[in-house]
Amino acid sequence: MEGTYQELAARWKALRARDVRVREVACVNAPRTLLCAETGDAGLPSVALCAGVHGDEPVGPWALLELVESGALSDRFSYRIWPCMNPSGFDAGTRENAEGIDVNRTFGRGGQSPEARAVLTANRDRKFAMSIDLHEDCDAAGFYCYEYGGGAIGVAAIAALDAAGYAIDPLETTFDAAGPLDDARCLRERGRIVADRVAEGALLGGLSYSLAVVRHAARVALTFETPSRAPWEVRMAMHGTAVCAAIVAASGFRDRPA
Ligand SMILES: [Zn+2]
Repeated sequence: MEGTYQELAARWKALRARDVRVREVACVNAPRTLLCAETGDAGLPSVALCAGVHGDEPVGPWALLELVESGALSDRFSYRIWPCMNPSGFDAGTRENAEGIDVNRTFGRGGQSPEARAVLTANRDRKFAMSIDLHEDCDAAGFYCYEYGGGAIGVAAIAALDAAGYAIDPLETTFDAAGPLDDARCLRERGRIVADRVAEGALLGGLSYSLAVVRHAARVALTFETPSRAPWEVRMAMHGTAVCAAIVAASGFRDRPA
């Protein structure tokens, strides 16, 4: 169930007893830290997972925690996890952080918020096979995703959600309300938007985490969105199912001969 940031952080720190490396990263010029967790064999390719950059989208952070607590992440990768990238917004239930900044527009130029700078500095020199960022959308009728960097991992995530019987957003009306792109600059299908990262960055007026990470650090970046109107447990299960399916798809991608 939903809880405070302190409760979330305590659950992550308890995972230190189970070989999850959890540390707190300082946010320079802000009175807060971010949790950074790592798990898996450091010699394996790394997947970046994060959530909570928008504080009014609480399911993502709890879904990531549950994935690690339950041991659901495949051991074919190692993982670098940012469990909640906007703790002050998480506790206040606001999209923005305590200073009123939308952190997910500040990942350009080395980071233009204390939270983005902390993440980008710690991630510097790291390369990821894939990056996934968990969000929610109050306008959505079902799950959907953004996919950057090519590939069709989002297709695998949608197929897994379909197989489990979860609602997929057709992206016919939601997208007008939520998306910054028109059809000339992205491919849009049921449950999935494949956008041009350069065009989207320009239209957003600032880089999101996924757009920043796919520039230099990750071959593929996905942003998953669950519908805020659906019951809590359904949204938790949607994110969990989608993340696991994406990881399976990325392993196939990795094994395929060049
Ligand atoms: Zn969001």
